[in-house]
Amino acid sequence: MKSDDTCIFCKIIAGKIPCFKLHEDAATIAFMDVNPANPGHALAVVKEHWQNLFEIPAKQIAAVAQTAKRVATAVQTALAPAGINLAQANGPGAGQSVPHLHFHILPRAEGDDLKLNWGHNPGDMDAVKAVYEKVLAAM
Ligand code: AMP
Ligand code: ZN
Repeated sequence: MKSDDTCIFCKIIAGKIPCFKLHEDAATIAFMDVNPANPGHALAVVKEHWQNLFEIPAKQIAAVAQTAKRVATAVQTALAPAGINLAQANGPGAGQSVPHLHFHILPRAEGDDLKLNWGHNPGDMDAVKAVYEKVLAAM
């Protein structure tokens, strides 16, 4: 399996750095984003180090999509947000900061006016953990 020692998501997948893990299977992992655009912001990530949509084999993107659906369903159940967007960036020009394919599961609040380049503001880890526990209970 392709991996990159310098990649933050490969380090999470290898268990070298911690995450608030929601799901793991043979091809994918899902965890909370530590710089949440909104409470409940989570990531569905392919385990193999594919940088983007153009590199990843079809079977693996299908697995990530299934994980994104599963996480989004749990976020919907646990938090009942106004809506949920899935977002996936390819290349720095599209706002991709981690070159390892992932989908954002983005809960929306009425009137939050969230833009595609939402920025990375460090989250309050106690707040992320509290929301994580609610979503995990719905997985
Ligand atoms: P993107 O900018 O679309 O590549 O998304 C990468 C996401 O990964 C950003 O939303 C970051 O906040 C998130 N992120 C970076 N490092 C970590 C980490 N150690 N744990 C959880 N999320 C992370
Ligand atoms: Zn990687």
